[in-house]
Amino acid sequence: MERLQKVIAQAGVASRRKAEEYITAGRVKVNGKKVTELGVKVNPNKDRVEVDGVPLDKEEPVYYLLYKPTGVISTSNDEKGRKKVTDLIDVSQRIYPVGRLDYDTSGLLLLTNDGEFANLLMHPKFKIEKEYVVKVKGIPDRKELKQLETGIKLEDGVTAPAKVKMLSSDRKKNTAIIRIIIHEGKNRQVRRMMEALGYQVEKLKRERFGFLTLGNLNSGDYRVIKPMEVKQLK
Ligand code: URA
Repeated sequence: MERLQKVIAQAGVASRRKAEEYITAGRVKVNGKKVTELGVKVNPNKDRVEVDGVPLDKEEPVYYLLYKPTGVISTSNDEKGRKKVTDLIDVSQRIYPVGRLDYDTSGLLLLTNDGEFANLLMHPKFKIEKEYVVKVKGIPDRKELKQLETGIKLEDGVTAPAKVKMLSSDRKKNTAIIRIIIHEGKNRQVRRMMEALGYQVEKLKRERFGFLTLGNLNSGDYRVIKPMEVKQLK
């Protein structure tokens, strides 16, 4: 037996929190009867759960790792009609990205229809490392690299300690390439950290999420995340 909101989230209909809202709003029925209390347990294989009168599809959970190119949007609806990450993956299930990468950021993005899994990976308490390589205009000095490491004051708070390493710099072109490993997921975090120090970001790529890397994928390619890998991430 599983909690009703968990079953709804696992079906890929909504996040667990949203599912709770649906329940309390009276939008959920179990075996034809409206359930408005939280904490009710159901058997996902036997009980018939409906949200707004639509039965939960017993969809198989699917997990993908995409090498997102730049020029593609991570959200599922874009009023400007730009290309979406979900357009790049040939799958019948309704999948969505775990977190986001900016339109101009490339690199590793996970996509799934498993709302529980997505919530888990996004939860700050798990501190999953995300590794970025950023190219900036200008060459930060040692003190500035230290600042990136210890914390940068942004509008929404100070960033948590990060691991930072200068990979290369080009005095002629006045650019630097820096590796930065963070475990938070503030909106546009890496760009804002660099901009706070006065450095304009020329390129940003995510190379790693937890133990998952891009491996030998090319930009725009994707692969299925193996069940063993999914288990390890959970
Ligand atoms: N930090 C950013 O600034 N942008 C991203 O897409 C990801 C992390």
